[in-house]
Amino acid sequence: MDINWSSRFANRTQYMQASAIRELLKVAARPDVISFAGGLPAAEVLPVEEVAVATENILRKQGRVALQYGASEGYAPLREQIAAMYRAHGVPATVDNILLTNGSQQGLDLIGRVLINEGDSLLVEAPTYVGALQAWRPLAPNFLTISIDDQGMCVDEIDSLDEFSLTYVLPNFQNPTGVTLAGSRRERLVRSIHARGALIVEDDPYHELRYSGQASPSLIEIEAQILGADWNKRGRVIYLGTFSKTLAPGLRVGWVLAPDPVITMMTLAKQGTDLHTSMLSQMIVSELIDGRTIEQNLPRLRSVYGTRRDAMVNALQAFMGDCATWTHPDGGLFLWLTLKGDIDTAVLLDQALEEKKIAYVPGNAFYLDGSGTHEMRLNFSCMSPARIHEGIERLASLIPQQSIVQ
Ligand code: PMP
Repeated sequence: MDINWSSRFANRTQYMQASAIRELLKVAARPDVISFAGGLPAAEVLPVEEVAVATENILRKQGRVALQYGASEGYAPLREQIAAMYRAHGVPATVDNILLTNGSQQGLDLIGRVLINEGDSLLVEAPTYVGALQAWRPLAPNFLTISIDDQGMCVDEIDSLDEFSLTYVLPNFQNPTGVTLAGSRRERLVRSIHARGALIVEDDPYHELRYSGQASPSLIEIEAQILGADWNKRGRVIYLGTFSKTLAPGLRVGWVLAPDPVITMMTLAKQGTDLHTSMLSQMIVSELIDGRTIEQNLPRLRSVYGTRRDAMVNALQAFMGDCATWTHPDGGLFLWLTLKGDIDTAVLLDQALEEKKIAYVPGNAFYLDGSGTHEMRLNFSCMSPARIHEGIERLASLIPQQSIVQ
């Protein structure tokens, strides 16, 4: 007898949805497609040689540590290296404030496990990162949304919102829009969350990928400035970082920086999930921090991605100046395009793939209510400037001029 699996699956699976992006990436990976859909680092900037050398060193010198089980909290020297990074920015962090994770995506999952109850109200930006929605939807929270403009989250709207227990913020080069939370809004956000007694999850994977403009302090740095030595007792920001964008996503190493009670509870949750993050991966990262490889590769990354961002903005100006508006990201991997006419970007995608071999992610994937139908996310990190130019020209040729509402 065939098994009716749908009656066997746990109730929470009804909230699990395939990520539109992951599905799309399967098609977009075809070599004949110019893909603006993914969010990957460019393959040519991955430091393959450096990782090979570090791996060999580690295996020869400390192979029995690297191939052994490790602590759930993470490899202690790497925790200390990360804590030191934040101390240099005024956050009084120790190793007890750092948990190493399997990428920051696991940080999102663990936050859900230890801090989100069914029915809790969570405030997320609209649009927001799909991976956070995937991690938290099965927990059946009540999502509230807040809009963003070219200065990031519209922080002034918070005061008029219903109560929420946690807000999820992407302050730098937000995925999907590429916008950055203005310096002037950051302190207001931290103070308003403290006044409400809520928590902030600050997801900051693109922090180091800035190509123009001035950096503002992280929310957790602002909070530490306000709280001083009391930060570990009174801090309300849980910060997620990752080596996926500055080193290599395949190593799957990210971190959580938070007050130690949060780290202790997340460590317990991690034990039940995967025991610990790969020791070999963590030791490779640690060695590449020590040898300053990550730091020394950053100028090249910024130059390659900055040139690609400029290529995309220039191509949009040349081919879509009349029919669309777009964001001007100072960093990260994406920009956000809004078509002026009445064209559904999810419908247009079929035609773009079929006729023009172009992929992008339709805007509705990033909204809880399925809005964003005239919007799309465009990734600029994976294609050469020439392919970007060609791809935008092809995409623009699909947009009928009569659809343009001036
Ligand atoms: N948060 C955001 C905003 C992201 O864009 C990504 C990667 N696309 C992640 C978290 C997860 O990254 P990783 O698990 O590789 O660190």
